[in-house]
Amino acid sequence: MSEIKRIKEESGEARNKALEALFADYDNNSVTVTELPSKGKFYKNFQGVEVSPLTFTDEQRILNSRGDGEDIVSKLLEKTVRGVEIEDLLSMDKMYLLMRLRELSYGDMYEFNITCNSCTTDIKTSLKLSEHLNMNQVEDDLMDPREIVLPKLKAKVLVRFPRSKEEKFLTGGEHTLKNIFRFIVSINGNQDPVFINQAIKRLHLMDIKTIINEVTKGEYGIDPRFYFECPECSHTETMAIPMDVGFFSVS
Ligand SMILES: [Zn+2]
Repeated sequence: MSEIKRIKEESGEARNKALEALFADYDNNSVTVTELPSKGKFYKNFQGVEVSPLTFTDEQRILNSRGDGEDIVSKLLEKTVRGVEIEDLLSMDKMYLLMRLRELSYGDMYEFNITCNSCTTDIKTSLKLSEHLNMNQVEDDLMDPREIVLPKLKAKVLVRFPRSKEEKFLTGGEHTLKNIFRFIVSINGNQDPVFINQAIKRLHLMDIKTIINEVTKGEYGIDPRFYFECPECSHTETMAIPMDVGFFSVS
């Protein structure tokens, strides 16, 4: 018995060595990203982030969690990104890291269906992400929080960036309007949240839009727009590359 066991152990060791040799360079697929849309300016001790590709198990988890309401994008990034707290990420960086994660896991080509707004045909589209998604970085002097002056009321408003964990407050329309006070630090120095909330209700549309634009800073990050030309009806339009969990639905 001891003879058989010894032989097994020996062959096992040889097998392990062979496996290690086979995968020597294989498990080191992570990349280090130092350039973020925010330049990492608003994270503590930022020194770049490391992104590792998704595993098959991760992919299965995404496919199985469709539609159950959890923030799967954050979960994915928590598993694959080191060097920054995911819940503190700015939206611009979150989308950028999601794109890098996709590239690392599936390659640069992205195939997706898009519905033509003119003839409503579903068109299979294929784009090389690295050529289409340009990153727009913040200026060096951008602060968080930062002061703006409302165009109508002329009041000084201190606003701050929403973090990943707060994205649920900014889903658009009335919901965003109801919650925008959370991202206002002060109005003319007054920090009372009730005062701020009451003041928002009385603001001119132009002032509200100024605050929302400043809080979300949509001009930074990656620009998902591409030029769409419908092969069915020749309609042309600038459209957005769908960048969400569908990113990871390669079958
Ligand atoms: Zn069309």
